[in-house]
Amino acid sequence: MTQWVYGFGGGSADGDASMKNLLGGKGANLAEMSSLGLPVPPGFTITTEVCTHYYANGETYPADLEAQVKTALDKVEAIVGKTFGDVNNPLLVSVRSGARASMPGMMDTVLNLGLNDQTVEGLARLSGDRRFAFDSYRRFITMYSNVVLGLSHDDFEEVLDAHKDRLGVSVDTDLKAEDWERVVEDYKAVVERELGHPFPQDPRDQMWGAVGAVFASWMNERAKFYRRMHDIPESWGTAVSVQSMVFGNMGETSATGVAFTRNPSTGEARLYGEFLINAQGEDVVAGIRTPQSLTRIGREEMGETAPSMEEAMPEVFGQFVEVVNKLESHYRDMQDIEFTVEQGRLWMLQTRNGKRTAKSALKVAVDLAAEGVITQEEAISRVEPSALDQLLHPTLDPEAVRTVIAAGLPASPGAATGKIVFDADEAERLAGLGEAVILVREETSPEDIHGMHAARGIVTARGGMTSHAAVVARGMGRACVSGAGEIHIDEAKGVFTARGRTFKAGEVITIDGSKGEVLDGAVAMIEPELTGDFQTLMAWADKVRRLKVRANAETPLDAKTARGFGAEGIGLCRTEHMFFDDTRIAAVREMILADDEAGRRTALAKIAPFQKSDFVELFEIMTGLPVTVRLLDPPLHEFIPHTDEDIDALAASSGIDADKLKRRAKELHETNPMLGHRGCRLGVAYPEIYEMQVRAVLEAALEVKKTSGQAPIPEIMHPLVALGLEMKYLRELTDRTAKAVFADAGDSVEYLVGTMIELPRAAIRAGDLAEYAQFFSFGTNDLTQTTFGISRDDSGRFLQAYLDKGIFETDPFVRLDQDGVGGLIEIAAERGRAVRPDVKLGICGEHGGDPSSIAFCEKAGLDYVSCSPYRVPIARLAAAQAALNVEREKDR
Ligand code: PEP
Ligand code: MG
Repeated sequence: MTQWVYGFGGGSADGDASMKNLLGGKGANLAEMSSLGLPVPPGFTITTEVCTHYYANGETYPADLEAQVKTALDKVEAIVGKTFGDVNNPLLVSVRSGARASMPGMMDTVLNLGLNDQTVEGLARLSGDRRFAFDSYRRFITMYSNVVLGLSHDDFEEVLDAHKDRLGVSVDTDLKAEDWERVVEDYKAVVERELGHPFPQDPRDQMWGAVGAVFASWMNERAKFYRRMHDIPESWGTAVSVQSMVFGNMGETSATGVAFTRNPSTGEARLYGEFLINAQGEDVVAGIRTPQSLTRIGREEMGETAPSMEEAMPEVFGQFVEVVNKLESHYRDMQDIEFTVEQGRLWMLQTRNGKRTAKSALKVAVDLAAEGVITQEEAISRVEPSALDQLLHPTLDPEAVRTVIAAGLPASPGAATGKIVFDADEAERLAGLGEAVILVREETSPEDIHGMHAARGIVTARGGMTSHAAVVARGMGRACVSGAGEIHIDEAKGVFTARGRTFKAGEVITIDGSKGEVLDGAVAMIEPELTGDFQTLMAWADKVRRLKVRANAETPLDAKTARGFGAEGIGLCRTEHMFFDDTRIAAVREMILADDEAGRRTALAKIAPFQKSDFVELFEIMTGLPVTVRLLDPPLHEFIPHTDEDIDALAASSGIDADKLKRRAKELHETNPMLGHRGCRLGVAYPEIYEMQVRAVLEAALEVKKTSGQAPIPEIMHPLVALGLEMKYLRELTDRTAKAVFADAGDSVEYLVGTMIELPRAAIRAGDLAEYAQFFSFGTNDLTQTTFGISRDDSGRFLQAYLDKGIFETDPFVRLDQDGVGGLIEIAAERGRAVRPDVKLGICGEHGGDPSSIAFCEKAGLDYVSCSPYRVPIARLAAAQAALNVEREKDR
């Protein structure tokens, strides 16, 4: 018989922390905490397998689930001494989602379940607090109606506002027991009016309704979006935990809060968090009341006057600190904890590895290794490579003039400048057009997540350091200022006001998420300095990685940035990118449009000097390191002048007749330039072009050898090769030119000649190429394009449909298609090595900076990856993690 339900509580549990796949993160950790003897309200978890079954069988449950749930519920009743649905002594429960990977706020939760017109009276008698009982009941009706019955919160807000107006009060705490009783009556009427049936009174119906809603929420839009963003497979499903309720809203000795064992923004090794006296969990996250700090130091630092938990409840706080320390050393990582104090008694509701910023992740990992809690290798694996991106971007220049328009909380560090947007859909739309936007909201909710992702930064007028905006922004690496109460948003008018000024949608602001400030206009930024924990972890990573990391760079600025980030050479210098500047492009256009070899040679003579001086500069920046220079690979259409104005300018600068240029431009027009006269086809048709380039590379190398005393090792790379004979021709051209250059100079340098592998034929016939090519560099941008037959330029139009339908799990131009394109890489590596065992293998397509693709390159045994300069540190860390994983697999 399959076990679908796992119980916990009363000092023991059916499951443990290793069972995340089955019980979800929350369920597994609740079980583990119970077994550790920590105070956990008893409950049970319905497994992720039930979710899978539910979707595979037309949204139905396994036949024996109901009986298993009943047995588990009986046990909970026995432990707490209350009965579900009992009029005098009712057990109330919460029903929560919990997937294998945490997806904060993405799925649904129902609290206070089990309340009805009778049990609410029992709760009132038991607690001796009628107001509390009816407040709980109205919260339950709202939540259940929203999550399970699909009604809008607004329907209930309206009713509550009407009551407040009638009573002449403004805050919920001013409502008395009899007021809440009347609110409850009206809420029930809303349900009956909207749905045509009364609010469900049978607690068992309520529970199954909530369980079904949680499973259904696995497929809601925001959960789907979150999964796509974080690569969580749909097949994992969610578990459902049903847990007996404890109440943080039973008076002044009750409270609820969230804590991190270390600071999730900075990593500082000190308890950090917030709590609210006389409140339920949702109040903390919703940001409706401003929470207080947990510790005295925290309160002092934030300049708060309300007492901290340490001061307000010293005894429970002492007990809490003990539990929290126990959890961190047990899980050997920073924990994110939810707790409730019910009438002076501490209850733990959740623990999980805390989400953190890159800065915090680095510090926590390095500190834990230094404390001897984890090894250096574990520390390397603890930091998500792509999260480093947050640290590699500019911060506000401390010297710049700052005009503060509002102050709030430093919810997620980093700086961002962009246009004001008030709506998540609009943020997504504008970002899609390439605009930088800052999303400004009263507060955010899970419905806003796509807009938060699209925005450079987020500002909220309400909410604390653990509000939805703060938590999600930190996880995404977006700068965020929360709780900027000076901002008053008028969405209808499309403006906000702050400090007496009005700002319209579309105006530019800057936010400083590290300070919690919103600033007027664009503010100057400075490049980040990477020191301390970053350098420590990178040094550890460099010790264990096998793959070398190079950069794709052709400008001196990019090359310097790359070297600063630890690049071990250049893996791709796209020579056509060196021609984009105005004077140069004229010479290149003249060359491309020339009628004959003589005309081309005239133009080439103009290009040669700057080609050579550019290479000199690159070689100097990369002294001692390899530099791969890829010969011209222009999709012709990018270089042909299109407008009459451009043609006339070219006629003037080249002295060639404008009509002749026009005619030639027409002749060169291609229907499909991506598959046209590009890559080495240009070198084969017009060898004088590649000869000029080879000469420039080698003359530059000779010059640097002479001036610096250290010869660079240029690697001359031919693009878009498909045939052995093509490669033979190109190798001979290169060597012949080199011989002439060395004879002229009376000196020589070492150099390599190689090819890109960008076409399926090149991969399959790699043995033929290896006869002449000393290295292969996988150009996976083109190789993806040519393997799928999907245009790099046009794929955007239909790819989304494939992603939405799950036919593509991720964009193959971003993440390597390991089975297809990867299969070709494996074939090419094997066949190339069979002919030339020391053939050097690298990758220089965009995938060279993508962590999962790097893991593939490690397994395929490539020698290096090459990526854009800002991704170099990411690639270094990803390469180290990949090497460690390969080691681990070998040990198994
Ligand atoms: C490639 O095709 O992967 C490549 C690196 O070359 P480019 O992007 O310049 O075509
Ligand atoms: Mg290419």
